[in-house]
Amino acid sequence: MPGVLVLAEHRRKAIQSITFEMLSRGREVAAQLKKEVSVVLLGHQVQAFAQELAKVAHKVYVIDDKRLENFNAELYQKALVPFMKDLKPTLTLIGHTSCGMDLAPALAVELGFPLVTDCIALERQGKKVVATRQVYGGKINVRVSAPSAQQGMATIRQAAFPPAEPNLAGGIVSVPSPLTEDIDYKKFLEYVEVAAGDVDITASNVLVAIGRGIKEQKNVQMAQDLAAALGGVLACSRPVVDAGWLPHDRQVGSSGKNVKPKLYIALGISGAFQHVAGLRGVETVIAVNKDANAPIFSVAQYGIVGDLFKVIPVLKDKLLEMKK
Ligand SMILES: Cc1cc2nc3c(=O)[nH]c(=O)nc-3n(C[C@H](O)[C@H](O)[C@H](O)COP(=O)(O)OP(=O)(O)OC[C@H]3O[C@@H](n4cnc5c(N)ncnc54)[C@H](O)[C@@H]3O)c2cc1C
Repeated sequence: MPGVLVLAEHRRKAIQSITFEMLSRGREVAAQLKKEVSVVLLGHQVQAFAQELAKVAHKVYVIDDKRLENFNAELYQKALVPFMKDLKPTLTLIGHTSCGMDLAPALAVELGFPLVTDCIALERQGKKVVATRQVYGGKINVRVSAPSAQQGMATIRQAAFPPAEPNLAGGIVSVPSPLTEDIDYKKFLEYVEVAAGDVDITASNVLVAIGRGIKEQKNVQMAQDLAAALGGVLACSRPVVDAGWLPHDRQVGSSGKNVKPKLYIALGISGAFQHVAGLRGVETVIAVNKDANAPIFSVAQYGIVGDLFKVIPVLKDKLLEMKK
């Protein structure tokens, strides 16, 4: 009986990073439970994925069925219920993604599991697993457990944990698909691509983010130049989107994106909790703000109390000089 079971999420020939993030914390919790971490992979002709996942999990269960080629919550549920009743994992982790949110509640109800959604931390305390999730738009963290439950389920927020190291040599187990028929009331039709030219701020290692302190649209370019000098991408807080200076897909925070770059430079951003909620996966935050009491400094490893319009050109020139 595995301690932790992770549901692999994949799309368009790639395993989604949330899978590896769940596996990193899942491995630690499983170790605390003195059990193993397994991953269940649903799809069609996904042997290459199984091999990739065997490097980060003790066991990879593969349910291969043409009907599981693309995600469909109803079919996933039909395939997972008998498998999970048989396997009896203590804790099942599913990504808090559009797919996971579609699947987890109905799956938990059918299995009779307690479900904690949108978790940002997980730890073992005595015999129970305690999950942390945010309420009131991220203002308060609550810790949730189901002490009397033998089994439970949690959905995990993206970028809440670092990806698992590929240092295991797990086994791959083929599980016969229990599906006997297709369903016609809910079908995969097509993937719709994000508009061309858009930047994925969740995939960048360096983000230079601007806030209301940038003051005017014409000043955005100087931050863009700094981002370019660092080989990074421009992101922002919500007021910058509201003003129409950058598109919404550049917004970081609770109503924007969770980001996980190695370096995040926050320029003229106060550090409201809705913004900081998107920074949990960031390795190093450098904040530039003229207000020494700005809350952003409490999440920054390095801070410059100063005028961003003076700091940006100096930083950029120094970087360009170092590159010569
Ligand atoms: C439901 C809800 C969801 C939200 N979701 C998000 C979200 O996803 N992301 C998000 O960012 N916000 C979100 N917000 C808004 C959030 O509450 C804050 O209003 C917002 O993050 C503030 O943005 P800011 O830091 O750019 O602006 P401000 O709070 O106005 O801060 C500007 C900062 O710039 C500094 N500054 C000014 N001039 C200079 C200068 N010359 N040099 C250096 N520093 C300077 C100031 O000292 C100040 O700290 C949400 C709000 C709600 C209610």
